[in-house]
Amino acid sequence: MNNSIPLFGAFLLAGAAAALDYAESASASVTGSGDRGLVDDLVAANHVLYRQGVVDGFGHVSVRHPGDPARFLLARSMAPGLVTADDIMELDLDGNARDPRGRTLYVERFIHSEIYKVCPEVNAIVHSHSPSIIPFSVTAVPLRPIYHMSSFLGAGAPVFEILEAGGPATDMLIRSPELGSALASALGKSAVLLMRGHGDVVVGDSLPQVVFRAIYTEVNAKLQAEALRLGQGQVNFLNAEEAANATETNNRVLGRPWELWKQQAAGRD
Ligand SMILES: [Zn+2]
Repeated sequence: MNNSIPLFGAFLLAGAAAALDYAESASASVTGSGDRGLVDDLVAANHVLYRQGVVDGFGHVSVRHPGDPARFLLARSMAPGLVTADDIMELDLDGNARDPRGRTLYVERFIHSEIYKVCPEVNAIVHSHSPSIIPFSVTAVPLRPIYHMSSFLGAGAPVFEILEAGGPATDMLIRSPELGSALASALGKSAVLLMRGHGDVVVGDSLPQVVFRAIYTEVNAKLQAEALRLGQGQVNFLNAEEAANATETNNRVLGRPWELWKQQAAGRD
């Protein structure tokens, strides 16, 4: 266990309102009345995303520290499906680990650090190579909300072009704070940012919400591609009002799929 984790407990014992607010807003299903709950939920989020086909051997999910907005939790560099509580590290917003103990960091941790830096409303982030979204990152076809479960796409899903910030000879990875900063700017206020020829970044205000969004982004991409073929390019998407209303509705019931996915990932289904 990360030595700095007891800070969570101290923080909560201090009764800091921000942590309680976060725990509440994260949804009732975040069992965390303490540090271990959040760490366990982050471990579960890794496993759920793997089981749901959003991440494979690559990809990562993080959560902002409830007691210090200038820190976040992220696993050491490893396959998400194998993450345990002992693999969870605390990083600062420059992407440095507070207690590395020889553990390797994800090369692309700057995706997380730079978004947390400029988006105070974001408390959880998923980066993946979610396969079905890739075609939408390399064509002019925008990813749009095809049904109510993916209504958060109503805020748009812009495409990050790494050429503009990194020049013509990158390996496509977000290897520096500079690239992370450019990516965070491209995200703007959207829930999802596609990365050309690479994958996507999904943000939310809690782990249950960001996991929900990452899963339904992948589902939406599959369904949209199918609808485009079936409809020969003619597809009726949710309008802006429908998307906004559906998002409000979905945000009230995030705990239901979250509990199901956690049970499945724990092999209890
Ligand atoms: Zn990547």
